[in-house]
Amino acid sequence: MEQQSIEFLRRLDKYLDEAEPKLIAYRRQIHQHPDLSGQERNTARFISHVLAGAAIPHRIAANGCGIITDIIRSPDPAAPVIALRADIDALPIQEETDIPFRSNNPGVMHACGHDAHAAMLLTTALALKQEDNLPFSWRAIFQPSEEEGQGAQQLIQEGALENVDSILALHVDPNRQLGKAGITPGPRTAFCRDFQIEVRGQGGHAARPYATIDPIAAAAHLITLIYQALPRSADARDPMVITIGMIQGGHTSNVIPDLVTLKGTIRALRREVAIEASSTLERLSEATAQAFRADIKVEFRNLLNGMANDELTAHAWAEVAREFLGPENVVSNDPPSLGGEDFADYVARVPGCMLTLGVAFPDRKVTPLHTATFELNEAALLTGPKLLARCMLHWSRKRARV
Ligand SMILES: [Zn+2]
Ligand SMILES: [Zn+2]
Repeated sequence: MEQQSIEFLRRLDKYLDEAEPKLIAYRRQIHQHPDLSGQERNTARFISHVLAGAAIPHRIAANGCGIITDIIRSPDPAAPVIALRADIDALPIQEETDIPFRSNNPGVMHACGHDAHAAMLLTTALALKQEDNLPFSWRAIFQPSEEEGQGAQQLIQEGALENVDSILALHVDPNRQLGKAGITPGPRTAFCRDFQIEVRGQGGHAARPYATIDPIAAAAHLITLIYQALPRSADARDPMVITIGMIQGGHTSNVIPDLVTLKGTIRALRREVAIEASSTLERLSEATAQAFRADIKVEFRNLLNGMANDELTAHAWAEVAREFLGPENVVSNDPPSLGGEDFADYVARVPGCMLTLGVAFPDRKVTPLHTATFELNEAALLTGPKLLARCMLHWSRKRARV
């Protein structure tokens, strides 16, 4: 490594080591004041305040809920522009931990670690701002509405990716120990398609079903049929899952209602597989409608594209992480998830990579992401900015060699 890079990393590590209490304080502040997707105005104001204090020029998104910093330029006009993205939204969950800085917003909780993502990015930005001779240009993106899959699109429309050559993000991983990271090339999260099914019948007296068209009976049959027939018609070599997460219908025990509504989601690593499953779902609905003389309407809504880490970028960053954390602490073959992640919208446009950072506690088990008792190990957080900075440095050097 050139002398200049070594010195940069030495200064950066020193700054970050000293900034660790600040990093943790930011995380606690954001954790204690969580905002739901699309309502992150307070969180954005807090981040803006810290950025302004460090003279980092930035703008707040049109709806007040996200932040895009200006591109902080390297003196080298040919230097690559790397964007760093953190999501900042919380979930509609009532926190049940007993940490002293637990949420004071009833029914809202940072249960996906976005508080930590925002705090790590904020600290990274402050650290990078100390340097005026970096071999790369950079921008920080504090993105709202990840949990609802809307925020990335919103900020891209507001110019977040303009003049950006590459993008990097990280997500905490409570299944991985502190000091460990995951960087896997290729598909990471699923194409997500939600659906709503309306089963319309003709209500009547519970004692005389023959005089009605019973939508509950039809819906019950349809659910069984979906779970039985749909996986049998899909190629088992292509991961796909369908789940019905909501069923609603009827008011009382002795009345057959007119309508039952179902809501669910289809997840697949390949878009075509989800589309194929959608047409099977429509076919099964038509058949059920015919069998029960009901009227069944299915509507789909595409939520998220599948997210894939750029192969070259992921390989390069895995190399950096192995050098920094030790080869045994970096996993590069994590299986993909059928969950969704709107980082997909960025990497569809510029090469990018999302890495996962271990935040488990060595001595106790924690519950998964999106649970009311989720906690993360703050001692792991300093690794985030150090790793991000190393990845950026490496990426710019690697690019300089081509
Ligand atoms: Zn989440
Ligand atoms: Zn998340």
